[in-house]
Formats: sequence, structure tokens, C-alpha cells
Amino acid sequence: VNQPEPSSAAASALSPPVQPDHASRADPGRPNGVTGPVAPSAAAAGTHRPVTGTRLTGGLLPGWQRRSLTASLPLALRQLEEAGNLDNVRLAVRTPERADADGNGERPAARNTVAAPPGSGYRGPVFMDSDIYKTLEAIGWELAHGDRPELASFAADVAGLLERAQRPDGYLNSYFQVTGEPRYSRLATSHEMYCAGHLIQAAIAHHRGAGDGRLLAIAVRLADNLVRTFAGQEKGLDGHPIIETALVELYRETGRRDYLELARQFVEQRGHGLAGDSGLGRRYLQDHVPVRSLDTTVGHVVRALYLEAGVADVAAELGDRSLLETSLRRWDDMVATKTYLTGGNGSRHVDEGFGDRFELPPDRAYNETCAAIASFHWAWRLLLATGGARYADHMERVLYNGFGAAVATDGQRFFYVNPLQRRADHFEKDDPGRRRAWFSCACCPPNIMRLLASLEHYLATTSGDTLHMHQYTGSRLSGADLELEVTTDYPWSGAVYLRVLAAPGAERGIALRVPAWSARTRIAVNHEDQEAAAGYHQLRRRWQPGDEITLHLDLTPRWTYPDRRVDAMRGCAAIERGPLVYCFEQADQADGVEVEDLAVRSGTVLGERPVTLPGIGQTIEVTAEGVHLPPAPLALPGDRVTAIAIPYFQWDNRDGRAMRVWIPRADA
Ligand SMILES: [Zn+2]
Repeated sequence: VNQPEPSSAAASALSPPVQPDHASRADPGRPNGVTGPVAPSAAAAGTHRPVTGTRLTGGLLPGWQRRSLTASLPLALRQLEEAGNLDNVRLAVRTPERADADGNGERPAARNTVAAPPGSGYRGPVFMDSDIYKTLEAIGWELAHGDRPELASFAADVAGLLERAQRPDGYLNSYFQVTGEPRYSRLATSHEMYCAGHLIQAAIAHHRGAGDGRLLAIAVRLADNLVRTFAGQEKGLDGHPIIETALVELYRETGRRDYLELARQFVEQRGHGLAGDSGLGRRYLQDHVPVRSLDTTVGHVVRALYLEAGVADVAAELGDRSLLETSLRRWDDMVATKTYLTGGNGSRHVDEGFGDRFELPPDRAYNETCAAIASFHWAWRLLLATGGARYADHMERVLYNGFGAAVATDGQRFFYVNPLQRRADHFEKDDPGRRRAWFSCACCPPNIMRLLASLEHYLATTSGDTLHMHQYTGSRLSGADLELEVTTDYPWSGAVYLRVLAAPGAERGIALRVPAWSARTRIAVNHEDQEAAAGYHQLRRRWQPGDEITLHLDLTPRWTYPDRRVDAMRGCAAIERGPLVYCFEQADQADGVEVEDLAVRSGTVLGERPVTLPGIGQTIEVTAEGVHLPPAPLALPGDRVTAIAIPYFQWDNRDGRAMRVWIPRADA
């Protein structure tokens, strides 16, 4: 809510549309052999291209990636067994084919629900396969980091199982094969293409990350089944998007233009009621207005944002500038009016959905973890399309806050819902307010793992002969014929050291993102110091190995105030330090000081101190002048206290007591 106002710069920053010329060749080719999740074809429109060969070395983000490998993924492998996901596929292997093939005898009627019919043997909701695929995707990216024998053998076992479960015509979905419900007959709730989309993305991760094409062959057979069933027809749309962006990526991987065409068809067909009714209306499924006419993000957040990523992909590959512009406009609107300070989206529990503009209650925030992941994916595609710094700024906000908070310090518990306030007497039927090891609708944990396993792909891009640095963490990376080493303790410290390891004989550009929040930024090249403004600071020269660039970002803790139109935060303030949003948790306050009776003297100077806290480890506390307010009916001034805040991503690692990001201003 405190983001810079959206401007019309979005449109002017657009690259001229490039007319693709696919007719002349079958394979679009991956520029620079891009090995990450998004690899635009050589013909795709867009000013930026992902770089390849990046490695995370040291610091907070590499620590998150390592924790996901050592603590989260082993948990996922156990849970996929315990929760029944893998058993469902085994059951599908044993189920005779005639029970699920189209047009063969008696079949149970379609059920408009995500729950399995009793007695079928199938366990869990209809989309259980997707958790397997998200986990496989995480493994695919992990296998690119080095030998992971246990993960590799798990992936091989599951690939074998999927090969046996897949029908000869390419169809693969354990729910529909086990229950015998007719295929593709109730797409509003069936998640068939949603599961297919996750399978395709997992297959691409294994192909690009590990050079293994086994899953890709399965995914291609399923995608071909979709093409045969839906291409050129008006037979339906999946209620839960992701197939769009998956099909575009499969086109990029295989050069098969019919996958891109089907993705385009699904994007264009949306808005005409083809997805059917899931019981929550067409708006919930983004199927009430055509994408080109939609002016704001609505409905179920994860669906809306996965669809936007697909829209951006289709627009890039087809050079469709007007389609891209609709997505850019909705992004501006979402960030300015429907986004929490943590980068989270979703104000309503009832449909995991967007609220009205400026409807952003901190205590009722839904902010599903997957919505943060989807938002990150969407912003990355807009960054590739336009090179706008605010997309990278927003990705950083999402990453360190709305997304980062979803995982416990130990990597073994996860948030599905990410509110900005938890009251001492919290009760919510769908959200206990504490992280959990897994969910009956697992969804978020394996999604977290696939993003963390591929995190290095989002640090930098190239545009022409310039290497753009978007996110700062310990890393080795290359692009524009340069090789760089980045050393930093960011986000704890604002000092980022870049060292040129290899350079061509010719001039090259290095562009460093200066976040909008950094009030005073200095950049030094070989100790020649200069001031830098927000946006990309361009450095251009004939670089030599050994050249050093030092970036000093201003991490002075700062006060942030909500937009006056957000009623639920009126009279409140929040604290940020660099990219980190802070929160007041009960465990940090002095004895007798209740977070719910705490106010702050906003605008006063904030203090900071590095500390190590039990359950959390290394952090930096921020201290503020506070007032402990007396019970409401008494008009007493309250006692002066020191209010203590910690980074939001580290909350709920101690007891389950109160927390709040937005805190009343004693001076308001
Ligand atoms: Zn989720």
C-alpha cells in the first residue's frame, strides 16, 4: 500500500513488439541455453532475457534454499506417502482402463466437488497429483545443483509409476482414473488441467535442470491429449489456471507450436463462461469478463495470478503488445490498491479471494502462500517484458515478507494463510494461526519448495550487452560475457560487493537495481564513489577481471504509513528496514506490555541492534518509542515503553501469542 503510485511509464517502457517468425524453423531455441523455469524463445518480445549458470553461494536466500533441500523436501517425500498422493497413483495403475476411458459403459456421474467419493479408495481432494508434481519440480531444479541420490531415485520411482498409470492415449489423472468419473466433464472443479500444468512444469525442471527427459515424455503425451481434445473447440476451460503458462513453456522446450496455440486459445476463451460453475460464480474463476477487457484482479487470487503469468507468456511469444498492456495495467492496479505491505494478496477467506480496492484488513488478510509465489512468477514475466525496476522491487517485497514468512526457521512447518495481525485469542476455522507440517489441502508447502529450488534464476537478466542485477545475495553469475561474484550479508547489511571474475575485451554494461526504499545509495567502482537514484544504475566500461563494484543501500529503519483509503489501518504505522517488513510480537516485549495495548510515537528515530533469539537465530531488532495504553475507558496517557520489532518473516517461531505489523500511532 505504500508503493510508489503506478505511472504510465509502464507503457513507454515496453519494447517494440517483435514479430515472431516461427514458420521458418521448428525449434524456437532457448537463448543462452536458459536452464530456469522461464525461457522465452529467441523470437519472444521483451527487453530482457534470463541469465544462466547462476549459483547461490552464501547468505539468507542461499540458506533458505539449503534448508528447503535438507529439511523441507525430506518432509514432502514422507507426506506424499502418508497423505495418500502416491497411493492414489498406484491405485490408478491397478484400475482397469475401461473404467475411465471416454464412451465405455456405465460411469458414475460427475461430482461438482473437490472431495473424493467415499469407497473409491482415492484419498484426499481431487488435485492430490499436483503436490507430487510440485515436489518433482523442486527435485528437478535441485538436481541441477549437484548429486542428490535420494531425490534422484525418488523421482525415478515416481516417473516409473506415472508411466504405468498413464493411459495409452496420454490421459493421466489419478482421481478420474480411480473414480471412473468421466474425463474433462466438470472442469470448474476437476483441476485436471491444473494437475497437467504442474506435471508439465515438473517435466521441464527435470529436462532443463537434470537433463532427464523421462517426465517430459509423459508430459508431452498428456499435452497431446489436451491438444486433441480441446484445440480449436469450445469444450471448456479449467477452473484453475496454470495450464496456460505450462503449455507456453512446453512450446519453448519442444518447439511444438500447437502447445502455444492451445495456451493462446485458453487465454482468449476466458470470460465467456466456458469454465462452468464451481459454486462460487464465474468471477471467482476469472471467467466473467474476457481477459482483454478486465481492468482489475478479481476472484480467487492464485487462479487470477497464475492466469496473469500465462497471459504475459502468451503475449511475449506472440508479440501481442495490447494483451501484455492489459496485464501491466492490472498489475499496477493490484499493487496500488489490493496488496498488503508484505506483498501478500487476498483479503477474503470465503473464496481465498481479492477484496475490493483498499479492502486490506491486516487481521483478516488471507494472503495464501501460493498467491505470493504466483505474484512472484507474474512480476518476473513483466520484468522480462519491460525491464521495469518496480517489478524487481515488488518481487523482493514478496520474497522477503509474504513468501519468506511462510516457512518456519526449521523448514518443517508452513503457513497457508499469512495475516498481518494475530490476536491473543485467535480462532479461525480454516487457519489456526500457527504454521503446520502439512495440510489436508497440501498445496503451499511443495509450491514453496519448487520456488526455493529455482531461486537463483531470478537474480539477474541481460538486456542487449548489459547485465542487470535485480536481487542481491551471495552468488556467482554470468551474462553479457561477464562473470561476477557477489558477496554480501544482505538483507542484514546494505553493503553488496561485486567482483568481476571474467570480462570480454569490449565494453559492457552492468546495471544495478537501486530499490525505491533506499533513501541514500552510493555505488563505488574501484573505489570511485558516486550517488545513485532509485531504478537501475548503469555502469559501462571495458571491465577487467578484478574490478570491484560496491553498492551501499540505505537500510536505516523507516516508518511506513498506510494509504488513507485503507480504513482498517487508519491511525496506524508500520516499520520497515531495507526490504524487510517488521512486526511486533508478544515474545519480544517487556514483561507486562501487551502487544494489543501497544502504540508507537511514529516519526521518532528508530534504533536497531543485532541479536540472536531462541527459535529464530540471527536477526536485527528495531526499537521504537512506544506507549503502553491503559484499558480503553480510562483517558490516561499510558506508560512510556520501548516497543521491539522483528522481521515479519521470522514471526511465529516461539510461542503462539499476539503479533501485529500495523500498530496504532500514539500521536494520531
Ligand atoms: Zn497454496
